[in-house]
Amino acid sequence: MSTFKAPKGTYDLIPPYSATYLAVRDAISAPLRASGYGYIETPGFEDVDLFARGVGESTDIVTKEMYTLTTKGGANLALRPEGTASVLRAALEANMHKAGGLPVKLWYSGSYYRYERPQKGRYRHFSQVGAEAIGAEDPALDAELIILADQAYRTLGLSNFRILLNSLGDKQCRPVYREALQGFLRGLDLDEETVRRIEINPLRVLDDKRAEVQKQLVGAPMLRDYLCDDCKAYHEEVRELIGAAGVAFEDDEKLVRGLDYYTRTTFEFVHDGLGSQSAVGGGGRYDGLSEMIGGPALPSVGWALGVDRTVLALQAEGIELDIPAPTSVFAVALGEEARKVLFGKVTELRKEGIAADFSYGAKGLKSHMKNANRSGARFTLVAGERDLAEGVVQLKDMESGEQEAVALEQVTERLRAKLG
Ligand code: AMP
Repeated sequence: MSTFKAPKGTYDLIPPYSATYLAVRDAISAPLRASGYGYIETPGFEDVDLFARGVGESTDIVTKEMYTLTTKGGANLALRPEGTASVLRAALEANMHKAGGLPVKLWYSGSYYRYERPQKGRYRHFSQVGAEAIGAEDPALDAELIILADQAYRTLGLSNFRILLNSLGDKQCRPVYREALQGFLRGLDLDEETVRRIEINPLRVLDDKRAEVQKQLVGAPMLRDYLCDDCKAYHEEVRELIGAAGVAFEDDEKLVRGLDYYTRTTFEFVHDGLGSQSAVGGGGRYDGLSEMIGGPALPSVGWALGVDRTVLALQAEGIELDIPAPTSVFAVALGEEARKVLFGKVTELRKEGIAADFSYGAKGLKSHMKNANRSGARFTLVAGERDLAEGVVQLKDMESGEQEAVALEQVTERLRAKLG
């Protein structure tokens, strides 16, 4: 124990648990990497106005949850609460949209920060893998992203999740709906904050989780009935393409999500084994965001999947990922001369691409072998004075317990053959 603890709402990832996180990040990004998405990394903080303008002044994320700071130079920064605004900012700054064909397809992985009330599945520091396809309006692109997220979850072995799908309309039809909804909401009996929300972001009221609010929302005008023909046709095609790919989804007319920049396609992946923090990922189209942050019109679509909650989903489904032992060969040297020789061997094995580790610090064969067992390595190399005198090391298969003497210069070859 030290005097310090991880800050409230955060936790450390430590071995062996951390290996699952790496595997999840890998599984989520693999379908993207294989589908033309290039890796992008942006800073952990940005100008606070990027999020205020991008994510939306009235969202919980911006009004309550951002970690903001003023630098000594007077700049107002925020730890990033989400990835899309930063990625789009970076793509615009680098003129990626002018450099080649559109869409610009990018994926990312990193830490995000929200000052939320911590609970299981909701942290102040969490991790996402995300994807953005910038600069194209094509229902197939929306479908591609949903299909790739589904593929990622399936390859992890997850099955107890659902895809909720909705269209939020565009700048033609949504304002008309917005007004109709506001008219309806103003007639309800709501608390002060919600009344304010009606004027700033009425769609979010539909998303209110409280039963007493939901009760009053029965009969509210639904966006579906206000979608313009273009939005309807677009949404129908997205639905068709996803369906044709064999990916099941549910139409959810109330899905609005917590960020203001979404237009048309919006979706959320929810897992039914996670209790209240059930959203494992979400995304949608954000055709207006580029202009909102001072860029040209660039219709785009993307998603972010939460790594922490995906790991919780694996636990909820009782799935243990098949993670190979990180070390294949563990070397145990008995005596000073053997230390030098085996340490050299380990270095050589590593250069040859065989994962090897060395028993440091232990005294006596017993404690050395304890280290070997703990490493999870399939093979152990043991050498003492007598072995060296004969020019051999003992190669032990930790699974079968079999042991053989192998000539020093043949160790690498022998191990390579055994490891396949
Ligand atoms: P959002 O940007 O809010 O749509 O978040 C996308 C995904 O990130 C969610 O579906 C969650 O899996 C994850 N996520 C968002 N906020 C948190 C949080 N506070 N703690 C853990 N995961 C989060």
